[in-house]
Amino acid sequence: MTSEDPEIVGRTPSWVRLLARGALLRCPACGSGHLFRRWITMAERCPRCGLRFARIEGHWIGAIGINTIVSFGAFLLTTVVGLIATFPDFPVLPLILLNVAVAVIVPLVFYPFSRTVWTGLDIAMRPLEPHEVDWTQVKA
Ligand SMILES: [Zn+2]
Repeated sequence: MTSEDPEIVGRTPSWVRLLARGALLRCPACGSGHLFRRWITMAERCPRCGLRFARIEGHWIGAIGINTIVSFGAFLLTTVVGLIATFPDFPVLPLILLNVAVAVIVPLVFYPFSRTVWTGLDIAMRPLEPHEVDWTQVKA
C-alpha cells in the first residue's frame, strides 16, 4: 500500500487543515485534542486515530526548528519595536530585560504548538501511509 491507495486518497486532510489543526494543538490527521498530558508532555500516539507523532527517528528536529524560528522572530520584533518606540533615548536595561523575558517565555509557550504544527507540515510533505492511522476512528 502507498499514499496512492484508495483508502488514503481523499481522507488525508488538505495542508491548510493540517496546519490549522496543528495550530490548535490537535492531531493533524484526525483533529482530536487531548494530545498533551502537561504543557510539554505530548502523547506518543493520537488517542483517536493512533497516529504515532514521531513518524521517523529525528522527527522532532523540525519542531525545534519551527520553535527556534518563531522565538527568534519574536525576539527580533521586540528589539525593533522597542528601539523604534523609544528612539532616540533607548532605555537599555528595560529593553534588555524585555528581550530576555521574550527569549525565555516564547519558546516555552510555543513548544507544544511547534510539535503539532510540525507534525502537520510533515504529513503535508510526506503523506500518511495506510498503516499509520486507524481510519475507522476518523470521519471521512
Ligand atoms: Zn489523530
